[in-house]
Amino acid sequence: MSLYETKRTRQVFDWQDIRDHHRKNDAWTVIHGNVYDISEFVSRHPGGDVILHCAGHDGTILYESHHSLVDRNMVDTRLSGLQIGTLKGGEVHNVQYDTEFSKDLITACREALARHGRREKEGVIVALSVYAMHVGTYAGLWVFGHTWWGLLLSVAMGGILALEHLIGHAGSHGAISRRGWLTKLNYVFAMLSMESYGMCLRHWTFSHVVSHHGYSYTENDCMLETHLPARFWRLNHSQPWKPLHAFQGYLFRFRSLISFLVSGCRFRVFPFVCAEPLIRAALGTGWIPNPKFMASGSTVDPRLLEASHNGMGPHQFVAFDSVFDELRAHAIANLVWVPLFMHIANERSSSAMWATMILYASFGVQAGLVIQNLLLQHVSEHTVLVQSTSGDWYRQQIEGSVDIYDSWLSTVFTYGVSLQCVHHIFPHLNGTEAIAVRPALEAVCDQHRVLYSYFARTRQAESSALKRMEAFSKNV
Ligand SMILES: [Zn+2]
Repeated sequence: MSLYETKRTRQVFDWQDIRDHHRKNDAWTVIHGNVYDISEFVSRHPGGDVILHCAGHDGTILYESHHSLVDRNMVDTRLSGLQIGTLKGGEVHNVQYDTEFSKDLITACREALARHGRREKEGVIVALSVYAMHVGTYAGLWVFGHTWWGLLLSVAMGGILALEHLIGHAGSHGAISRRGWLTKLNYVFAMLSMESYGMCLRHWTFSHVVSHHGYSYTENDCMLETHLPARFWRLNHSQPWKPLHAFQGYLFRFRSLISFLVSGCRFRVFPFVCAEPLIRAALGTGWIPNPKFMASGSTVDPRLLEASHNGMGPHQFVAFDSVFDELRAHAIANLVWVPLFMHIANERSSSAMWATMILYASFGVQAGLVIQNLLLQHVSEHTVLVQSTSGDWYRQQIEGSVDIYDSWLSTVFTYGVSLQCVHHIFPHLNGTEAIAVRPALEAVCDQHRVLYSYFARTRQAESSALKRMEAFSKNV
């Protein structure tokens, strides 16, 4: 180690110093009490620029939750080259990642994965197949959209968009491919998939990959607040709409219908509304959605880490990029849907009302399908619904999630998202890899007496979740 490096790593920084370095080209982060300058590394990061969500913040959870199966020595060596000092006060987390349970779990899952072999191209093949279906159905709507066939095709389009939501999900975790230049496609696939129906990838990534995955079911899981229909029924002790939980049993039964009705009117896409930032500004909630960020289980004053409403806080770099990202999401969505809308509306014997209905049905079916399964992923009779902000992180992730294995095909085409316990501890696996790892996870859970919710059929998971929801609403 050179003298210069020795001198730099001896520096001690406080949170004010970290916060000052929150821009794309000037990014510092904290992992386990050490301070790293990641500015130069961002473009070389194999997982893509999701790493920027750590800038100006504590990046411990994002680091831990996405590097469990990779070559840890290699990653740690790379990281130590970026260290510039330590944090005043040292480690700020109460969460443990190296318990006996987590060590056994990672070893067993690594072995299962090694037996399974690498499946690097599978994710790309799934994504391309879904895009091909999208193009085919879009062409079908172009030709037949003004007829009754249009309604049938719009339902199919809703199903395809739901799959695209999962491509976006997998891409934001870097799960589509981890091989060479293909890793860059994670971001491109995720962006095209999510933004084709108006969801801004950067904000979704923050709320899902950083907040939901890192802080599942704590008060810091801001994904609960970013999906509008979800706040009606997602269980959380800081829920602002808590009185509505008394109706959760009913809401749960009609979750798909409610989502269809609410989200069919896709607020970013013409002919509904395509100016969400303007509406947010008018309502005084800031130009962009700016989810709160707190280091769960941390001893840091959360006000030091929180992004301010106007985006001028520690997340300033996100705010700056976000304006561009927001505009891009609007542009991509409207570029896809406006021509189709105009075409259907201009067809003889058709009308703007009919074209609106076709789009409404496509978006509504997508939202209905997504919510249908989303609610089953973390609720069963036995799952832990509200997590503590300290303790064994791996155990918490498993005890707060549900694995459902309906069929090989559905698991592969959804990138293993229904195997939510596997997904939460190893989010960078694709469908067949998740299937291969699941029995090992179950065996280690049995051995350590960790609660593991597994259902071989969606129907069973559904009735278990319903029981819990009904019991929960009676106790409100
Ligand atoms: Zn995820």
